[in-house]
Amino acid sequence: MKINLISDTVTKPSKQMLEAMMNAEVGDDVFKDDATVNELEAKVADMFGMEAALFFPSGTMANQTAIKVHTQPGEQLITDKDAHIFNYEGGGVSFNSGVSCKLIDGNNGSFTAEDVIDAINPPEFYHSPLTSLVSLENTANRGGGACWDFKEILEIRKVCNENSLGLHLDGARLWNALVAKGETPAQYGKVFDSISVCLSKGLGAPVGSVLMGSKDFMGKALRVRKVLGGGMRQAGYLAAAGIYALDNNISRLKEDHKRAKELAEVLSKAPYIKAIDPVETNIVIFYLKEGIDCIKFMDTLHENDISIINMGQGKLRMVTHIDYTQTMHEKVLEVLTNSK
Ligand SMILES: *Cc1c(COP(=O)(O)O)cnc(C)c1O
Repeated sequence: MKINLISDTVTKPSKQMLEAMMNAEVGDDVFKDDATVNELEAKVADMFGMEAALFFPSGTMANQTAIKVHTQPGEQLITDKDAHIFNYEGGGVSFNSGVSCKLIDGNNGSFTAEDVIDAINPPEFYHSPLTSLVSLENTANRGGGACWDFKEILEIRKVCNENSLGLHLDGARLWNALVAKGETPAQYGKVFDSISVCLSKGLGAPVGSVLMGSKDFMGKALRVRKVLGGGMRQAGYLAAAGIYALDNNISRLKEDHKRAKELAEVLSKAPYIKAIDPVETNIVIFYLKEGIDCIKFMDTLHENDISIINMGQGKLRMVTHIDYTQTMHEKVLEVLTNSK
């Protein structure tokens, strides 16, 4: 029994999901002629109460497309220092859009409206790049799966309105935040100009993300997706997995959150632990005491067929997901309890 906790992207489609994929009605989506892709896009737009949505092969491409549509070369966006768009999208912000990032030193990936005000370059001061976009991430990946305070998001929206800034949400794991906080997609749809969500993380689909926005915004996004090579043909087979995931795999995320909390609970009592980041959703980030050999610790886990991620400097990460069963969970709890 291999237990893979390196990410919630390691999941494989279930039999039922594969069946939904096999039975999908497909067409050529580059001609907007794939009934299942059209159904997925309409479904997601409807959930969030946004005008239009577009299916993407990856969350990275969905975010990069949004940034491209929101900005002009030479401009600047505001985001957290730990943001995925800054750290893990291959430098795409500068490569694709010719835009720089003003980084906020936030708290587990969140920041305040006050921080945003401080980060805006005065538009009349022509020596500085023009600030045009604010990008948030919920849940915050490097923030240990932390959720945003929705009240703060509303404050940031006001600041964006007052300063004519776009507001984008990298919602790769927004589903986890919605479940953890009892929030609705519609409340996010009302606040953001654009939202990307992943179907291939906690929801367990093999591939796919969706970008949403106004009709006008998504018309431009369609062109950028084409430029980036993201037009897919009979993509309905993939979209069917997404529809299945939305219909079946959202509310069960609470099980992943419960297991993550139980992992943190056991770790908090272990003699080899220095600290654990607060666990709100499905990500557990923890730190080994100085003097504990990280490689040896990982080896012990490997001997027990458990894989986790070493983030360096004694920082380790585990992510729970749909393929992480109760049987696996009990074994991991036992191994963590008995490790030294
Ligand atoms: C995974 C992830 C993405 C998108 O990643 P892809 O692998 O390109 O789908 C974007 N933002 C965050 C916060 C993520 O965790």
